[in-house]
Amino acid sequence: PDAAALVAGRVVDVPDFPKPGIAFKDLTPLFADGPVFREVVDRIVAHHGADSFDVVAGIEARGFVLAAALAYATGTGVVPIRKAGKLPRQTHAASYALEYGEATLEVHQDSFAAGQRVLVVDDVLATGGTAAAALELVERAGGTVSGFTVVMELGFLPGRQRLSPRAVHALLTV
Ligand code: IMP
Repeated sequence: PDAAALVAGRVVDVPDFPKPGIAFKDLTPLFADGPVFREVVDRIVAHHGADSFDVVAGIEARGFVLAAALAYATGTGVVPIRKAGKLPRQTHAASYALEYGEATLEVHQDSFAAGQRVLVVDDVLATGGTAAAALELVERAGGTVSGFTVVMELGFLPGRQRLSPRAVHALLTV
């Protein structure tokens, strides 16, 4: 199957989660399916090229699952981009608007060597607020973003436009 069909077959739509009117895309069945998970990781690596990045930055929490697998597959390392208050040493912080209120992501200030090429990964791209904050943090910490990659993109939201001109790679766009 093509990548989109592979992903679509292992994503479950959850109506009214986390609140009424939202159709949540649940990727936990995809993570739990060994052959599909491996294929997803291999296809992400193939798209970007194993030599195109030096380290993988994963966005808490589902991005961590993908980041660890991508790093292991390519012999690179993982840098966590975490929700506020979780990282123990000095951080850079970026806040962004949610539908109600605000969220903050952090990265350790010494996460990257100058110019280190960073592949940033998350499970789902929706409005792009999370990704925009993560990309800003990588750059403030001295990294160079080599790509932003997700398993699934919600194409009816303006995430991709918001990150433009930065390229976004998604295995499946719905
Ligand atoms: P954004 O900031 O609106 O683009 O939302 C993306 C962030 O929220 C990512 O970290 C996703 O993990 C999470 N997210 C938003 N919508 C969904 C969804 O339908 N399924 C899974 N995660 C989602």
